Amino acid sequence: MDMEISEFAQLLKASRNLVVFTGAGISTESGIPDFRSPGGLWEKNKPIDFSDFMQSEEARRESWRRKFAMDSVLSGADPNKGHLAISSLYNNGRVRAVITQNIDGLHQQSGVRDEDVIELHGNTTYAKCLSCHERMSLDDVRKIFEQDEALPVCGTCGGIVKTATISFGQAMPVAEMRRAEALAQSADLFLAIGSSLVVYPAAEIPLLAKRSGAKLIILNREPTPLDEYADLVLRREIGETLDFVTKM
Ligand code: NAD
Repeated sequence: MDMEISEFAQLLKASRNLVVFTGAGISTESGIPDFRSPGGLWEKNKPIDFSDFMQSEEARRESWRRKFAMDSVLSGADPNKGHLAISSLYNNGRVRAVITQNIDGLHQQSGVRDEDVIELHGNTTYAKCLSCHERMSLDDVRKIFEQDEALPVCGTCGGIVKTATISFGQAMPVAEMRRAEALAQSADLFLAIGSSLVVYPAAEIPLLAKRSGAKLIILNREPTPLDEYADLVLRREIGETLDFVTKM
């Protein structure tokens, strides 16, 4: 066994308050492309900024087109070894909650209770009115959109409807950010997995943990801007690494 893995295992074993933070990289092994890897979504579709979504009907149409095109990938995706390793730590009482930037619901599918998954960037499995926050099912949105790409409006207040995700330029969810910050401040070990750690303010959370006294481990195939602050950086594949280390 190499030094990195044995150090990872020792840090895990010694931790009494482990917090896990994930990004799109944990779901690539489930067949969901991330943003910034070669061939990732960033190269194909530049994200639609929230202000464009609000101002332009065409931007709203494009975002629903992308959403429904992506749904066939999402609906076929199952949790992979990485998700399952985290849920086994959670089920053993080693991890209290998972903070995620992901919107795919795979941590919940892997067995982490919904209330213990803190979704910083929302969830793509339902839609919401941006004015009165009434939920709308995606089936209902799809039925409307299939008629000449008509845009859905809220049945209660007539407001603009959007997937329940947080776009670039959109305000972060306040309660989720507070919970994530509190968890980061109380952690003794913080594990950042599969994130390029360039999307702010989410990327502040691992730094907050480090500044509050936690040890920081970064598991990501590529370098990140926070590597210099980490106690341990593992440039490895997520699934096999977590599967191996959590079974030691
Ligand atoms: P990102 O695409 O910027 O970074 C992902 C990182 O994961 C990359 O640095 C890549 O090298 C690494 N990676 C990918 N697969 C890996 C593997 N198997 N093993 C090791 N490393 C691997 O993603 P981000 O930092 O999460 O930020 C992008 C934003 O994209 C987030 O806000 C997120 O909401 C959104 N997003 C979510 C999903 C999802 O829900 N699955 C998918 C795409 C984008």
